[in-house]
Amino acid sequence: MARVYNFSAGPAVLPEEVLREAADEMLDYRGTGMSVMEMSHRSKAFEAIINEAEADLRELMRIPNNYKVLFLQGGASQQFAMIPMNLMKNRVADYIVTGQWAKKAYQEACIYGKANKIASSEDKTFSYIPDCSNLSISDDADYVYICENNTIYGTKFKTLPNTKGKPLVADVSSCFLSEPVDVTKYGLIYGGVQKNIGPAGVVIVIIREDLITEDVLPATPTMLRYKVHADNHSLYNTPPAYGIYICGKVFKWLKKRGGLEAMKEYNVKKAKILYDFLDQSSMFMGTVRKEDRSLMNVPFVTGSAELDARFIKEAKEAGFENLKGHRTVGGMRASIYNAMPIEGVSRLVEFMKKFEEENAKEN
Ligand SMILES: *Cc1c(COP(=O)(O)O)cnc(C)c1O
Repeated sequence: MARVYNFSAGPAVLPEEVLREAADEMLDYRGTGMSVMEMSHRSKAFEAIINEAEADLRELMRIPNNYKVLFLQGGASQQFAMIPMNLMKNRVADYIVTGQWAKKAYQEACIYGKANKIASSEDKTFSYIPDCSNLSISDDADYVYICENNTIYGTKFKTLPNTKGKPLVADVSSCFLSEPVDVTKYGLIYGGVQKNIGPAGVVIVIIREDLITEDVLPATPTMLRYKVHADNHSLYNTPPAYGIYICGKVFKWLKKRGGLEAMKEYNVKKAKILYDFLDQSSMFMGTVRKEDRSLMNVPFVTGSAELDARFIKEAKEAGFENLKGHRTVGGMRASIYNAMPIEGVSRLVEFMKKFEEENAKEN
């Protein structure tokens, strides 16, 4: 068996330890004689799985008691609609557009009310985070929306926007649990887990209780109401049970590694290896303004489409998978989530050095 270094943006690498444990429990989960995939979501065994997952997530993120944790389906994209349906009481919301995912969320919100694009970095291909310290927030805005880490472009908000008292809603899909966060600064935090936590099919929503009401937009389906899921502890209908089980294992893995402070330290050290190399390389360069660089997604280019393609091909042959950049940016992107070991990044940099030497000679 040979595992590759998987730099996919999502679904992405998971801790090998977690996969092995899941494999061990595949046929008989702790004496139940069945797989977690086969058990009732109302069973004692599953109840323990979901409760423990929630408790561990609360501990990791220090989630205050006045926030609910929901394990939902539909991916991050379903939240683009669910957020306005549930939170747009005045039918007004302010959106900061820093990439494709924020743009999609903004466009979806336009279906339901007046969504204002109050800042954008589209003028420079989303390669930076705009200054959000004093934006003109609409008086009647129900919330201010950001995508905190821009998976495609490799930027991250290092300071949260000044929302002037309005609830902050953040898509954290690609930076979930990568570093400590102050949950109290947000009204709602959500993310698809397939980037940094678990298998596709689960989206986690952390929402302040006062934002969960019955006062939703007319015709909001039952399944798209936060209150329904909150009242039923994410068990209104069959949840993505196996996915939640894997997320729970990843939470335990994170706790064992020292929690989010330790993860941040590791992630900073890991990303630095790649960024330091990019900054001194005469062939490869990063595409993002330095102060806005993401710890999780690192896009880079050579400046030549032909060289990029050759690099991606040769890297793949050497066991570095999924380094092709997003189709809208081109070049390369290394996603280096929590589960990517530091050796994966240092080996990649070694490979890049070698590639640079070999290809410089030809010119
Ligand atoms: C991947 C991604 C999404 C879309 O996730 P789906 O679960 O496929 O809907 C949304 N936002 C961000 C930041 C992402 O990285």
